[in-house]
Amino acid sequence: MVAHSHQSSVNDDDSVPEISTCPNCESGKMEVFYEAASAPSNSCILLGSQEEAENYPRGKIRLGFCSDCGFISNVSFDRRLTEYSGRYEETQGFSGTFNAFHKALAQRLIDHYDLHEKEVIEIGCGKGEFLLLLCEMGNNRGTGFDPGFVAERINSPAAERINFVKDYYSEKYSSYQGDFLCCKMTLEHIHSTAEFIKTVRRSIGDRLDTIVFFQIPNATRILKDCSFEDIYYEHCSYFTPGSLAKLFRRCGFEVMDLATEYDDQYLTIEARPSSHETGQEAALEQENDLDAIKQYVQEFPEKFAQKRELWEKRLDEYRGMGKKVVLWGSGSKGVSFLTTLKVPEELEYVVDINPYRKGCFMSGTGQKIVGPEFLKDYQPDVVIVMNEIYCDEIGDSLREIGLEPQIIAL
Ligand SMILES: [Zn+2]
Repeated sequence: MVAHSHQSSVNDDDSVPEISTCPNCESGKMEVFYEAASAPSNSCILLGSQEEAENYPRGKIRLGFCSDCGFISNVSFDRRLTEYSGRYEETQGFSGTFNAFHKALAQRLIDHYDLHEKEVIEIGCGKGEFLLLLCEMGNNRGTGFDPGFVAERINSPAAERINFVKDYYSEKYSSYQGDFLCCKMTLEHIHSTAEFIKTVRRSIGDRLDTIVFFQIPNATRILKDCSFEDIYYEHCSYFTPGSLAKLFRRCGFEVMDLATEYDDQYLTIEARPSSHETGQEAALEQENDLDAIKQYVQEFPEKFAQKRELWEKRLDEYRGMGKKVVLWGSGSKGVSFLTTLKVPEELEYVVDINPYRKGCFMSGTGQKIVGPEFLKDYQPDVVIVMNEIYCDEIGDSLREIGLEPQIIAL
């Protein structure tokens, strides 16, 4: 995480002015196409009481689209409302499905870039899982930056080769140089994207053999499938392959590869610093997506209205039939689902396998977070899964405790 921020309540009369110029290409105009007037400003934070959860500070989401570069940004974003600390609980590392993906990704990067006994830097390392994998599997040394890092959670023989800095990455850390610099699920939290990538480029300096790897949510999928659950306050920046590649090229990188991972949910870029001004012409086929993105943006409001109606009708029917419904997945998608839709108050519980989240409450709406074992007594009729990719894993967990409720994915 990079933005300098601490949590505070911001009054309406104190709100930041909206941006009108694209922070990605620094020239296009932002046109708003989606709004959520009052979204909890943090959805992964651990909240110990229902009252604190229900009264959590809220902010405005107004997604603007730049038709010059294809970038999408919350033009009303106020970084004073964000908090990334030890109580920011974002890890997906308790899921077998996710860990298998993470391990395969680490192996692919180690093999492709011969990352053995090298120096690895991770910006926004969270609880450090990916950096540990790279250092364990390739016998590398590492430095990870994240204000939400928790030292007590690290348990790995590779830990002695890693230096964790509990802070936002910034230019003051440019003395930390690596052969491989990675930044996963962080750039989408940064509002001034061009400013940030230029900082990274300046920090690398003339070490032109440094490999840079970024991973972020894939906004093309969010737009195409109208995944409103993937739009939440912490994510102020949304990239498509085209807007991501343009950003890197403009900021002094050569783009080597763009790919999607995890059922198209993630977008990745592999780049290296260039010594010369690089042209803006798209080098990779995936970058030529602007016309398609414009179309998706145009269709989004209608698709969203339909999807909201469908889910609200469905929830209402369950209530009418007296069915017990729980959500599975208490992270940002769950928070967005509960705050975007009209949800019956009978929906009282959200399940999560992350033990650190158990006993906490959903930011904004206050449902209680429970572990899977809670369902044994509760006996839900319907489990709504926030991320389809976990359906099989969740089905297995339910069968293990003798339950076979209807499983339905968002
Ligand atoms: Zn732009």
